[in-house]
Amino acid sequence: MSSGRAIVVGGGIGGLATAVALHRIGWQAVVLERAAELGEIGAGMSQAPNAMRCLDTLGVGDQARAAGVPTYSTGNLRLPNGRHLQRARPGDPTPLLAFHRADLHRLLLEAVPAGWVRTGAEVTALHQDRDQVTVTWTGGGATADLVIGADGIRSTVRRLLWPDAPPPRYLGRTAWLGIAPTGGLPGSVTMGSGAYFLIHPVSRDRAYWAYVTTCPQPGVRHDDEKATVLDHVRDWHDPIPELIAATPDEAVIHLDIHDLDPLPSYVNGRVALLGDAAHAMSPDRGQGAGQSIEDAVVLAAALAGQPAIETALRRYDTERRPRTQATVRGARADGRRTASPAAHRWMTTMVRLMPAALWRKGLAPDGNATWRWQPPHLPAPDTGR
Ligand SMILES: Cc1cc2nc3c(=O)[nH]c(=O)nc-3n(C[C@H](O)[C@H](O)[C@H](O)COP(=O)(O)OP(=O)(O)OC[C@H]3O[C@@H](n4cnc5c(N)ncnc54)[C@H](O)[C@@H]3O)c2cc1C
Repeated sequence: MSSGRAIVVGGGIGGLATAVALHRIGWQAVVLERAAELGEIGAGMSQAPNAMRCLDTLGVGDQARAAGVPTYSTGNLRLPNGRHLQRARPGDPTPLLAFHRADLHRLLLEAVPAGWVRTGAEVTALHQDRDQVTVTWTGGGATADLVIGADGIRSTVRRLLWPDAPPPRYLGRTAWLGIAPTGGLPGSVTMGSGAYFLIHPVSRDRAYWAYVTTCPQPGVRHDDEKATVLDHVRDWHDPIPELIAATPDEAVIHLDIHDLDPLPSYVNGRVALLGDAAHAMSPDRGQGAGQSIEDAVVLAAALAGQPAIETALRRYDTERRPRTQATVRGARADGRRTASPAAHRWMTTMVRLMPAALWRKGLAPDGNATWRWQPPHLPAPDTGR
């Protein structure tokens, strides 16, 4: 098995998963994070069986299952007036675990070897030749055998080495998110016309909520974001207005939804893109972070099985591009449907008419191709190296 030295740019979920995966195969790495302190801002998220299997491969599956909360978001579909289109039964199995982002981030960080993460390090330049890559950041520089750009949707690594790549695409939708101090909710999605409201339980006494709706322009902001989102759903069923009202004002996040058009390659010489830097997607399939964790495992498996780094990176690119770009397309199409009043009428009719047993079948852990995906095996590092 080959081993080497890598620099990972970005200490989000994708970057940390990559560091853990590299450690598993006996590589050395440093993670450069521009923020002064490491930690996920943001609210909640769900992870599906494909990502949970990868967390098992990384050795943190048990910790993740202890931190996550089963959510019935896809089992409980409702209309704004409260009517259930589908309803999960108490005790039903569910394939999704919901997390506070910070909890998932923390458990990955705990699996990264001490001293690997450097904060306050914003990468500004990259140069590579046949044998190595030189990375420059605010206050330092170093060389490595391999650089992984896990620096998010507005990736500097992508801008430097993929100068022709188009900027992120605004998808005509905007989202408000928050964590409310409310326990005991099972998880649900309420489908309005051109908008939806998602609830996940993220601990015994906290719930994550997200309201996604259309907006022709990105960057529209309000003096009081909480009052604005509350206005949108004032007449929606309980506990939607209460959840927003219970969220501290400063904890309400407003962001616009973007994704990335497909890149022709995720690899340039000894540099690879990973996670949102490579394939940012709209949140409608709940897969963005999960796909970045998959990337990390596939990259490490390719490096472990192949002494030539360029060959290993080609394999990573060949395996990851079709799957992740199909997921970007699928999420974009799902989002377009939720934004269209005509599609809303069609979808709610279909969901309401679907027999409950058939609906539940689609929610089994192997209910769709994305969730069925199996990660490659990561060999243990050679000892005595
Ligand atoms: C509303 C919403 C809901 C979502 N829900 C889900 C969900 O339920 N499930 C799911 O799996 N995914 C979900 N996602 C997607 C998920 O948030 C992202 O796919 C995931 O966080 C991407 O991780 P990343 O590590 O690739 O990038 P990021 O999280 O963006 O991390 C990039 C890191 O790089 C750092 N950085 C940037 N530039 C530099 C630089 N030049 N030098 C050094 N460091 C740098 C940044 O500070 C940051 O820490 C959702 C997204 C949104 C917007």
